[in-house]
Amino acid sequence: MADLRDLYQELILEHSKAPRNFHELPAANRRAEGYNPLCGDHYTVTLEVEDGKIRDIGFQGAGCAISKASASLMTQIVKGKSVGEASKLFEDFHDLVTGKAPPNGNQPDVGKLKVFAGVSEFPARVKCATLAWHTLESALEGKQDVTTTE
Ligand code: ZN
Repeated sequence: MADLRDLYQELILEHSKAPRNFHELPAANRRAEGYNPLCGDHYTVTLEVEDGKIRDIGFQGAGCAISKASASLMTQIVKGKSVGEASKLFEDFHDLVTGKAPPNGNQPDVGKLKVFAGVSEFPARVKCATLAWHTLESALEGKQDVTTTE
């Protein structure tokens, strides 16, 4: 697993040590819990959604550096975005970490999320990187069950 070190780029390390929006929102109107049994990553995502926009987002929980950094960067990037924009980002991010080439040949513009591109070489880690996003999606869809990556 020595090659994993290549994945732990500075931004990932930094976000896993000091995750952003790492708190539960007291006024949340959307909430979901996500669990990745393969790695043990477990997070709760809370949101304030108003007029189809993500006004605020927070997450809490524990897991590996990749899952935590991914959740942290996710909260930064989707805050203020519309629900539609957030699901489009998830699609693009999913393509990126699964190494799927975009159909039109253009790399999707995922901003800082690009640091997770290396994850595509580690299939088991894809679940770590996408857990928070799956959980976000469940929260937006109003699902009550715990979201798992299995
Ligand atoms: Zn993990």
